[in-house]
Amino acid sequence: MREKIIAGNWKCYKTLEEARNLVLEIMNGLKPDLDRTVVLCPPFPYLQMARELTLKSKVKIGAQNLWKEDWGAYTGEVSAPMLNSLKVDFVIIGHSERREYFKEDGALLNAKLKRALAWNLRPIFCLGEKLHDREEGITFKIVERQIEEGFEGISSEEASKVVIAYEPVWAIGTGRNATPEQAQEVHEFIRGKIGKLFGTVVSQSFPILYGGSVKPENIDSLMAMPDIDGALVGGASLKGQDFLRIIHYQRE
Ligand code: PEP
Repeated sequence: MREKIIAGNWKCYKTLEEARNLVLEIMNGLKPDLDRTVVLCPPFPYLQMARELTLKSKVKIGAQNLWKEDWGAYTGEVSAPMLNSLKVDFVIIGHSERREYFKEDGALLNAKLKRALAWNLRPIFCLGEKLHDREEGITFKIVERQIEEGFEGISSEEASKVVIAYEPVWAIGTGRNATPEQAQEVHEFIRGKIGKLFGTVVSQSFPILYGGSVKPENIDSLMAMPDIDGALVGGASLKGQDFLRIIHYQRE
């Protein structure tokens, strides 16, 4: 069975105290012997706190971004070796908010993916179409291009460490989620593309997460789809009890 991953993207929310309380609430609410990977992605300033609190647990910690160079005069940036030294496990790359507001393009995201892999960070590589792409019927074309740009020059061995999050931009933070069938169709396409690039051994074990208004009410039906291996959760990951319900999704 493929690894199942539930990741919470806290974006630019929470004070230090609120973040600490949320980490503790989630850790205390986890059922023992969980057969899925739980990842918390707090803002940079809280990574060390979150890492220390979770170090002896199975909870993984992820950063929300990283810079494409290891070191240098890049005021305000945070690099892969810094995250590695904090014992961060995962890093989100190419979130649609980074693509949109910070103009991160395919070449930059490819460079970030390579830095993350070089420093043993597991990338959660985000991609997805905008509403007008879907309406024009070019969802697969957009997704294919994002994969080709992001994975340029990546070996099969490296690709096997990556996680993709399919996040249709029209579903992020809008309350309007893709139906399980809409998500499944794109996930299947993504798996096929990963198979063409890196072979079926990689594609069959490759976790593909869905993101976009995931809530306690829709997680079970999403996880019932054969190619949905987990979720990248924004808004609902900020509420401990909601996120716990999502983590403990029921198999339908
Ligand atoms: C996200 O931030 O990746 C996300 C999917 O947000 P939301 O769950 O709030 O739509």
